[in-house]
Amino acid sequence: MSVQIPFDNTYARLPDRFFTRMTPEPVAAPELIRVNHTLAAELGIDGASLESAEGIAILAGNAVAEGSEPLAQAYAGHQFGGFSPQLGDGRAILLGEVVGQYGRRDIQLKGSGPTPFSRRGDGRAALGPVLREYVVSEAMAALGLPTTRALAAVTTGETVRRERLLPGAIFTRVASSHLRVGTFQFFAARGDTEGVKILADYAIARHYPEAATAEKPYRTFFESVIRAQAELIARWLHIGFIHGVMNTDNTTISGETIDFGPCAFMDDYDSRRVLSSIDHQGRYAYGNQPNIGFWNLTRLAESLLTLLGENEEKAVDEAKAALEAYVPCFQTAYDDGLCRKLGLSPGEENTAAAHALLTLMGEHAADFTLTFRSLADAQTPAGEAPLRALFGGASASLDEWLARWRQRLDAEPTTAEERRTAMRAENPAFIPRNHIMERVIAAATDSGNFTPFGAFMEVLSKPYEDQPGREDYSLPPQPEERVLQTFCGT
Ligand code: AMP
Ligand code: MG
Repeated sequence: MSVQIPFDNTYARLPDRFFTRMTPEPVAAPELIRVNHTLAAELGIDGASLESAEGIAILAGNAVAEGSEPLAQAYAGHQFGGFSPQLGDGRAILLGEVVGQYGRRDIQLKGSGPTPFSRRGDGRAALGPVLREYVVSEAMAALGLPTTRALAAVTTGETVRRERLLPGAIFTRVASSHLRVGTFQFFAARGDTEGVKILADYAIARHYPEAATAEKPYRTFFESVIRAQAELIARWLHIGFIHGVMNTDNTTISGETIDFGPCAFMDDYDSRRVLSSIDHQGRYAYGNQPNIGFWNLTRLAESLLTLLGENEEKAVDEAKAALEAYVPCFQTAYDDGLCRKLGLSPGEENTAAAHALLTLMGEHAADFTLTFRSLADAQTPAGEAPLRALFGGASASLDEWLARWRQRLDAEPTTAEERRTAMRAENPAFIPRNHIMERVIAAATDSGNFTPFGAFMEVLSKPYEDQPGREDYSLPPQPEERVLQTFCGT
């Protein structure tokens, strides 16, 4: 069966300085880990063909599919606040684009060998981080968040050297594009105003076509990115997600979550929580993510200045005026979402009730995900035992909060049953818990056992459904299972 990927490439038509054309570096003995058949079908690709020898060769970078125009993209970026004028695809190759059921998508190999952007890196990926990205990006999609996706993963039959020798793997990523804030910074930092304009026009055509006919196309484009990022970060907070490495090169123009290196979901709630081993200052702590979003968008504004006004002063005024939308946009998305999690209509007092619950959760080290999940049944005292248990039993402050929350529920136009359904659709039972992720990675890395990976994927595909017999997956770690740090593991 021959592999047919309906490539329709546009990035490869951009000027040469946007990328380096090159093919992936072949690997010794690729073997398939998994193909995402649902996603393949959405992209107009026969998933079964990707499982053939030819398909695996393409997914490993050992063969170039017909119509593919492989290239490594150039970009720059602020990493932990410090600017690197040249980053780029150091271990990734864009194979090309397809127009699927939901629009244009990039297909990219990650871990496919060195490129001119590799700097000191080996261009490769270890199996653990590949599985983490597969699991977490697909979990995010099932949770309903904008995210890059996993089309496939293969092992390479080679090892990569990290702290120790690890099995190598290659991940096939699908994204609505790989345009980043850092892509704009790449051209702006070189004073390449023409490059910035070409990129902005490309981004508008690809992601925000309505901006093209607006009175001020580039201002409208910038505002669209601001809105997409503000809403994305609000949704991260709603599900307890800590991205971990919100550098400007990991901040998409599309508003999709990208880069799942040291990311983690919170178990017990603490807004200052940091899990990434490289985030010493807490720059990317859970509760600091909205601030960093603003910081990153300010860097985008700087890169767009030549397009925003006829002189610098006017452009800065335009940028500042656009950025003013960020805080209210984030706050509304965040607060309204919190109210929905509580079964309440949006509003100031309901928002205050939600924030009061978060404070209580922090004081009691209550599990973030399970607290919200248990609320649907805690509308009446008869169903409050699971919630109570998360707060360590008797708690006068929880009693008080529950009493006030129930009064608010009484003021809602909905029935208790309607709210129960709505709340369960907002508050997942299953998230990719770190301690389970570690077990999945250890089984695959140490014993070549991918069964736990498959089982985890299955559970996470239905995060809002109760799954009898799989309750273990919903539980927080035992003290000895707690993951205190996550590693980028590049
Ligand atoms: P990341 O931390 O994955 O966002 O990557 C930041 C930058 O480092 C990007 O330019 C990557 O391409 C590059 N990079 C990360 N890991 C490697 C690697 N193993 N080999 C070459 N470049 C890498
Ligand atoms: Mg990155």
